Amino acid sequence: MKFSTRSIHAGRKPDPITGAISPTICQTSTFTFDEFNKPGDYDYSRTGNPTRSALEEAIANLEGGNAGFCFSSGMAAVTTAIHLLKSGDHAVVGEDIYGGTHRLFSEIMTKYGIDFTFIRMDSEEKLEAAIKPNTKMIWIETPSNPLLNITDLSMVSKIAKEKQILTVADNTFPSPYFLRPIEYGIDLVLHSTTKYINGHSDVIGGAIVTTTEELAKDVHFLLNGMGTNAAPFDSWLILRGLKTLPLRMEKHASNAIAVAEYLLDHPKVSEVFYPGLESHPGHSIAKNQMDGYGGVVSFKLKTDVPKFIESLEIFHLAESLGGADSLVEHAATMSHASMSPDARKQAGISDDIIRLSIGLEDNDDLIEDLSKGLDGS
Ligand SMILES: *Cc1c(COP(=O)(O)O)cnc(C)c1O
Repeated sequence: MKFSTRSIHAGRKPDPITGAISPTICQTSTFTFDEFNKPGDYDYSRTGNPTRSALEEAIANLEGGNAGFCFSSGMAAVTTAIHLLKSGDHAVVGEDIYGGTHRLFSEIMTKYGIDFTFIRMDSEEKLEAAIKPNTKMIWIETPSNPLLNITDLSMVSKIAKEKQILTVADNTFPSPYFLRPIEYGIDLVLHSTTKYINGHSDVIGGAIVTTTEELAKDVHFLLNGMGTNAAPFDSWLILRGLKTLPLRMEKHASNAIAVAEYLLDHPKVSEVFYPGLESHPGHSIAKNQMDGYGGVVSFKLKTDVPKFIESLEIFHLAESLGGADSLVEHAATMSHASMSPDARKQAGISDDIIRLSIGLEDNDDLIEDLSKGLDGS
């Protein structure tokens, strides 16, 4: 079945007792055993829950993996995935990844003897040079945040496979509708389902999709052992959001390219970052590996950042992305404030960078709002 059909039906079937089309929210902590020493399919909701299972199956299906796991947040998924490593291991990580992931790795996981090298993953030479004898993981975000840099997934997975290094792609930005990293040989796919997969700015959640039985077993062991699981009601909301993922992604992307092209010509804007623009350095790789370019547009403003933001009406000043409502944020003081000033500098996240999460409003209204903001800055 095609993607749009699977985003509605995968993991779900009408309730066998009532026929309800909408899955039942299985709001329970525990489940009765069939008999002594014989649990049923479920025994305790941290370990597994039917509402969460439906979402896990749906996301695994859309990503093309063998199993899925859902978490209480994107960071809970990241925390779980990084615990596949142990003290003494090393990971190579994209330098301009999500600020919270950067903080977890560089300030928390290093305390437990795991080392990280942060690089721009734009060439084989740079990646090969960063790999050490104890490198066990390569962590990628493409397009990256907030600069929308593109990483060639086939290039990374080829090198990783030769050296038996596990590859992880945080696929939050494109969503599986525009990119399925497993098709390019990536081992583990991760999501902040808070963003496009849920899509309505009303839930915090995360997911991991695996590609082998062994990885699935390890990830489930960590989820259950660390208690990073998603709640049933949150899983239900995300399942509801998932049904419209294809429609939403198409609209996010068509609005985003219109906004990017508008900003490109504006005299108060010095640089626009959107992989759908031909001028973007990663455009040709993005064109090959993605089915669309997503809904995030970043740019460098030549004039006053606070004045610009305060002059906007439709774009609300808020962290996060991927919802129906358009949002604006200042990377250095908001999404990437958890990175040190040096790490931001290395990654090219300067103080004039503004990130827009393009929502589902009419694109004429969005452009008019940006025009007001730029006039006011
Ligand atoms: C938001 C985000 C995260 C963290 O997810 P939460 O749901 O906020 O915990 C991780 N990676 C990326 C790319 C994100 O955008």
